[in-house]
Amino acid sequence: MYRAVRIHDYGGPEVLTLDMLPDPVPGRGEILLRQEAIGVNFIDIYFRKGIYKLPSLPAVPGMEGAGVVEAVGADVTGLAPGDRVAYPSALGSYAELRTIAADRVVTLPPDIGFDTAAAAMLRGLTVHMLLQEVYQAKAGETILVHAAAGGVGLLMCQWARHLGLRVIGVVSSEDKGELARQNGAAEILVGHDNLAARVRKLTDGAMVPVVYDSVGKETFVASLDCLAPRGLMVSYGNASGEVTGISAGMLATRGSLYLTRPTLATYIAQRPALLKGAAALFDMIGQGALAVRIGQRFALAEAAAAQQALEARATTGSTILVP
Ligand code: NDP
Repeated sequence: MYRAVRIHDYGGPEVLTLDMLPDPVPGRGEILLRQEAIGVNFIDIYFRKGIYKLPSLPAVPGMEGAGVVEAVGADVTGLAPGDRVAYPSALGSYAELRTIAADRVVTLPPDIGFDTAAAAMLRGLTVHMLLQEVYQAKAGETILVHAAAGGVGLLMCQWARHLGLRVIGVVSSEDKGELARQNGAAEILVGHDNLAARVRKLTDGAMVPVVYDSVGKETFVASLDCLAPRGLMVSYGNASGEVTGISAGMLATRGSLYLTRPTLATYIAQRPALLKGAAALFDMIGQGALAVRIGQRFALAEAAAAQQALEARATTGSTILVP
């Protein structure tokens, strides 16, 4: 038997319960993984609340984890018991043990620990997607980054600095601002009020070519107002609620803007893309350009408290569970 956190009904953090389940057996093309560290991400909250639907209930939430291969199923090549692996996006990670498709995991370099991997796979590959694929920002450009002291945010600030970009980070407190600055943000805006006016001042009226908005409902329109003509609005999260009621005209009247709503799952759906993103992330960590900050560490049984803290904006950097 093994311990897993499960959701029996959609709702608040209290719906997360610790259950004992019979050991899983890897099927064809799958591995059995003993998890050493598990990432807690905002998407876990969307699934728990039912904003994103789970395939069935009860379900084990969580997308990200790292651990040791315990057994391999039929037709699995290139992986063996004892191998250290991690994955960024496969539902069912809040557990000591899990099965997972072998082509959804990557082998960990020896210098990357399980905790770091569980804190950086989903968030780091998201940053790779946002900065290298969704919009290829060029050195010297100024970008606007919401939730700059969060899990994705701190990695984004560092990666962007490495690329020679000037980051304007938006946060909710001076302390978070200081942290984002230490991680590479050149300018900090505290709070969402009068965003466009403050960005205009910081850019001498030019505004920015791209906004990375993970806050959603509360900031969407203000973010559009921060863009230069023909700028790109990257709406990639709903921390404050889902964005609704958008019209094409909103893009027209603000200067022929572009809008995209990317998901990591789409960008890494093909295995070569997953491997490319992971290689870039491991390289950035290996060369010291990215320092992964684990701001919070909880026991697996405390998953509800971990999600509560993330939802309440009480976290910085990444949050992990340790089985
Ligand atoms: P974070 O650590 O960034 O936590 C969320 C942060 O959002 C908070 O700390 C808070 O920062 C800010 N925030 C602003 N308004 C609210 C609000 N009303 N309620 C809660 N938080 C708010 O989380 P993650 O790093 O896990 O994820 C960051 C975002 O990126 C999420 O929106 C997530 O869904 C998205 N994401 C999207 C992916 C994709 O594929 N599209 C992949 C990965 C992440 P502050 O207090 O400074 O305002």
